Amino acid sequence: AKAAGRDMARFFSPETDERVLARQTMEGQLRQALANNEFSLSFQPRLNARTRRVQGAEALLRWSNPVLGQVPPAHFIHLAEETGLIKPIGLWVLQQACAQWMLFQKQGLPEGLELSVNLSVAQLSDPELVEQLQDILRATGMPPHLLELELTESHLMDNPAGAQAQVTALKGLGLQIAIDDFGTGYSSLAYLKRFEIDKLKVDQSFVQGMLDDTADAAIVHAVIALGHTLGLKVVAEGVENLPTAQTLAALGCDELQGFCFSRPLPAEQFQEWVLAQDD
Ligand code: C2E
Ligand code: CA
Ligand code: CA
Ligand code: CA
Repeated sequence: AKAAGRDMARFFSPETDERVLARQTMEGQLRQALANNEFSLSFQPRLNARTRRVQGAEALLRWSNPVLGQVPPAHFIHLAEETGLIKPIGLWVLQQACAQWMLFQKQGLPEGLELSVNLSVAQLSDPELVEQLQDILRATGMPPHLLELELTESHLMDNPAGAQAQVTALKGLGLQIAIDDFGTGYSSLAYLKRFEIDKLKVDQSFVQGMLDDTADAAIVHAVIALGHTLGLKVVAEGVENLPTAQTLAALGCDELQGFCFSRPLPAEQFQEWVLAQDD
């Protein structure tokens, strides 16, 4: 009763009114964002840790709204998930990312570049996902083995049996599966073995701390060892400086991603960045 009373007090406080209003405004804008063409994708390069050659990129959603300005995904993905809007938005991301990727190939980018796309839990549990992906692959000509879907541990552990069936179906299409933000969730090692996963992405919080914090360094070390023991590739994200990149390469980490190499870039700039690396 005490907690309920506190909630009521919060509910009527002006600050909360403001927050409710802000949320409603964002929800209203989000509902129209797809139709109004307000979304775009940025691409952040991922490099081979040993050769430093670009291996692929992660597609990251960007929202530019006339009322709200540039809204970072951390501020709206959650709302998109709660409202179910993430399904059409996520489908747009997959479609757009694959179409752009094929355009990059036409414009001379290396053929084997891999494309990573983030998948939300609502998409993973959607029975239509596999067929939708099949259609996108067919329509765009995107080679399935070059498309990697990033899932988080909590996506997989929400409903392990359902997720496992879905991951198996996605692998059946020839896609790659990565676990994002690895180390922050609660996946059991037994499930890790059972899911047909290709890659672990060490969460950036550990990577950013690894040169100063021995616990973070130990976690990064352990994830690389675990991944390799299970036959998985290991990617470090949030690599912000060269000493971190060098340490990760020495630890045997396979791929690196972070501001040290490039921020996420709009398509045209990404293309220029890759072509400049190639000379
Ligand atoms: P994420 O999947 O973990 O993506 C990595 C985030 O870290 C990106 O933030 C990226 O810009 C940022 N980042 C990359 N390198 C560095 C670095 O060296 N230092 C620091 N400090 N940050 C770095 P972004 O683009 O704001 O995306 C935030 C999150 O929003 C993503 O985290 C992902 O969970 C979600 N998200 C983004 N795009 C999509 C999408 O298309 N679909 C879904 N479902 N989620 C998305
Ligand atoms: Ca990701
Ligand atoms: Ca991540
Ligand atoms: Ca994340």
